[in-house]
Amino acid sequence: MAKFDPITKIKPVVRALSAYTLDPIETPIKINQNENPYDLPEPIKREVEERVRSRAWSRYPAFVPSTLLERLAAFSGWRADGILAGNGSNELIQALLMVTVGPGTRVLLVEPTFTLYRLQASALGGDVRSVALDAQLSFDTEAVETAAISGAADVVVLCSPNNPTGCVYGLEALERLLERFDGLVVVDEAYRDFSGQDAARLLPRYRNLVLLRTFSKAMAMGGMRVGYMLADPAVAVEVAKAKLPYNLNIVSMAAAEVAIERHDDLLRPIVESIVLERERLIVEIGTIDGLEPFPSSANFFLVRCSKIPPADLFARLVADGILVRDVSRYPMLADFLRITVGTPEENDSLLRSLRSAMSDRNRERWRSL
Ligand code: PMP
Repeated sequence: MAKFDPITKIKPVVRALSAYTLDPIETPIKINQNENPYDLPEPIKREVEERVRSRAWSRYPAFVPSTLLERLAAFSGWRADGILAGNGSNELIQALLMVTVGPGTRVLLVEPTFTLYRLQASALGGDVRSVALDAQLSFDTEAVETAAISGAADVVVLCSPNNPTGCVYGLEALERLLERFDGLVVVDEAYRDFSGQDAARLLPRYRNLVLLRTFSKAMAMGGMRVGYMLADPAVAVEVAKAKLPYNLNIVSMAAAEVAIERHDDLLRPIVESIVLERERLIVEIGTIDGLEPFPSSANFFLVRCSKIPPADLFARLVADGILVRDVSRYPMLADFLRITVGTPEENDSLLRSLRSAMSDRNRERWRSL
């Protein structure tokens, strides 16, 4: 038996952190993780199966996944030597922070946002600072600029569209920040396909811009774990040092290649229909007394519940077989739930359930349960 407590060998900054977790609740309608409600189209799956089957599984993937990088370059309009592919964009967030953040590095976030940035930057000993979203839950771009410049941050991490609010950091404001701020600006664009905004066109002019993207949302490949980073080639060389060799397996790599090839005919229409459904849901939920949906440029949106605690509404939806995300413990979001856009049928069920839950008669009944 060891005479010491091994936990004492874990870094104190890590022991002080709470892990990134998710409740393992299972329901027929799952709209809690901002996934694509449609599976990857069958022709893509079949083509991936064929490509993987005809290749030796005993051999490692290519050391540099050049075919995928070339496809990503054509897809994004950025140069292949400035692109890294990752095992989900989470891996690239970690690699990027690993090569930029050490004890005392000033990392500026705009919160509430995706919790992984604070977790990872803190675990690396970074000095994490935060600017709040404004009262409408949008970016206060002047406050971000002031905090970045006067607070002399080293790295700013923005999520645009932001998870969990869906607000976008406008390109003009982003350009102003890149111009005035002598530090790295990382923009996590996991949900950009639902927004119509594309920051990649700023890459040729700003060497301090790093973009992170994923195949997990619009590309309907959450289970495959593929993400990518677009950056200045010299920055990409450095971030690659923190990425594990062969981080992408041959199945994920083939899936990403085929998804890009079939994006325009098979995936783009899905994204367009999700955006239409988002707008329909926001209008419909806006007519329900006691619920206030917030505008969003992503495949999810926030709903303020003014008449009942969000945890109660969350539980009521679970009872109806619908899982949303309770974000009421995030800063500024004590009254909110986050809803991912589902298929039209799932959205209809959600609307029925919300209407029933919020009707005065029912609200009294189920609250007393
Ligand atoms: N960035 C944001 C803002 C996200 O919300 C998520 C997923 N929840 C990710 C990155 C992770 O994406 P991936 O599946 O590519 O690791």
